[in-house]
Amino acid sequence: MKFEKFGFHPAVTAGVKENGYESPTPIQAEAIPQVMAGRDVMGLAQTGTGKTAAFGLPILQRLMEGRRGQVRALIVAPTRELAEQIHESISSLGRETRLKSITVYGGVGVSPQVEKLRKGVEIVVACPGRLLDHINQKTIDLSQVEVLVLDEADQMFDMGFLPDIRRILKQLPAKRQTLLFSATMPDEIRRLAHEVLKDPVTVKVGATAPPVTVSHALYPVEQHLKTALLLELLHHTDTESVLVFTRTKHRAKRLGEQLEKAGYRAASLQGNLSQNRRQAALDGFRDGTFQILVATDIAARGIDVSQISHVVNYDIPDTPEAYIHVRAIERTLNASVERRTVPDFDYNIAAPKKDSEFARPPRQPQVRKPAGAKKSVAHAAAAAPSGQGRPKPAGGTPRKSGPPRSRSQQGGRG
Ligand code: AMP
Repeated sequence: MKFEKFGFHPAVTAGVKENGYESPTPIQAEAIPQVMAGRDVMGLAQTGTGKTAAFGLPILQRLMEGRRGQVRALIVAPTRELAEQIHESISSLGRETRLKSITVYGGVGVSPQVEKLRKGVEIVVACPGRLLDHINQKTIDLSQVEVLVLDEADQMFDMGFLPDIRRILKQLPAKRQTLLFSATMPDEIRRLAHEVLKDPVTVKVGATAPPVTVSHALYPVEQHLKTALLLELLHHTDTESVLVFTRTKHRAKRLGEQLEKAGYRAASLQGNLSQNRRQAALDGFRDGTFQILVATDIAARGIDVSQISHVVNYDIPDTPEAYIHVRAIERTLNASVERRTVPDFDYNIAAPKKDSEFARPPRQPQVRKPAGAKKSVAHAAAAAPSGQGRPKPAGGTPRKSGPPRSRSQQGGRG
C-alpha cells in the first residue's frame, strides 16, 4: 500500500516524502481513511507504531482548506517531551503546508506562548495544566477547534489529568472530530471514550507485547548490589544507547551520578528538572552525547529515541500496569524470562549495616504527620536488561524506536 492512495494535498505528500515514509504503517493504513472521512476514532496503539502521523497527516490535510491563523486542531498529550515530539513530527510533515504548530506546556515561560498564540497558529500541541492556564487567562481561543486529539490517554489518566481534560473539553465546540489514542484501556479511559467520542471506529494495532526481536532477561540481585551489578553488566556488554528506568526521581538522579562517576556518559531525566535540563538530557541521549539515560518511567514514557540497544528496569515498577511480578511479565511476553547470573560477580558481599546507597540528604525538620500517614516502603529486587542484540531497523520500515517495552512493563511513579 502506498501513501498516494489517500489523495493528500501535494504539500502534505511532500512532507511524507521528505520524512522518507514509503508506505503507511498498519495504524496509518487503518486510521487515515477514517480520520479523513471525519469519523471519531478510538486508536489502540502505542508509541513507535506511527500513530502521530496517523492523526497528523489527516489534520494537515484538513487544515489546508479553511481559515488560517486560528486554532483549529488541538492535540493534548501527557508530557512535555511527548508534546515536543508530536509538534516536531507535525512541523516536519507539514513543512510545505505553511501551517503553524506550537507547543503549550508548563515549566517554561508563558510569554512566548502567548505571543505565538496572538500572532495566530492553526495547531496547538498542549499538556493539560498549562493549557488550562491559557484558557483561564483567556490567552487562547478554542472556539474554532475542529479536531481534538487526546494522545496517550491512559497515561494522562495515570498522571491524574482526567479532571483537567474534562475542564478542557467544556471549552471546545461540541461539533468537532475527536480522536483518542491509548495503549491500554482501563475502565476510566473506556468511560472517557464513551463520553467524548461520537459513533467512533476503533482502530487497534499490534499486540501489546514488544517486538520479538527484543530479548528479556532477569538478573536477581540483592538491593545493595544493584548498582555494582549494573556496572558489571555495562562493562561486559556491547551496548549502544542504554535506557535505565528507576522507580523514583531520587533514584534516577542518584544512579545517573553514580554512572557518571564510574566514567559513563550518563544523564538523568526526571520530573524535578527544569524543562531546559530535561530537553538537554533527552537531546544529548538522542544525539549520542549521553550513552546512558536514567529516567523515571513517567518522565520517559512514550519517548521515541532510536538506537536504544538496552533497556534496564533497575527497579521492578510497582503499578498495576507495570511489572508486578515476573509471572505477569512472562504472561505478557508469552514466554519465560531467562534468569541470568553474572559469572564473575560477587553476589555474597554483605549489605552495609545501614544502606546508604540511596540515602537522602538530611531533611529539614518537619511538622509531624498525623498518625496513620502512609510510609513509603522500599522494595525492589532485580535489574532486567532487555533488547539484547536487538537488530537495527531496516531502511524503509518505521523506525521502531522508543523504549521497546510493553505497556505491562510501563508504569511506576515519576
Ligand atoms: P510514532 O509512533 O508516531 O511515535 O512514530 C514512530 C516513528 O516512526 C517516528 O520516528 C516516525 O517518524 C516513524 N514513522 C511514522 N510513520 C512512518 C512510515 N510510514 N514510514 C516510516 N517511518 C514512519
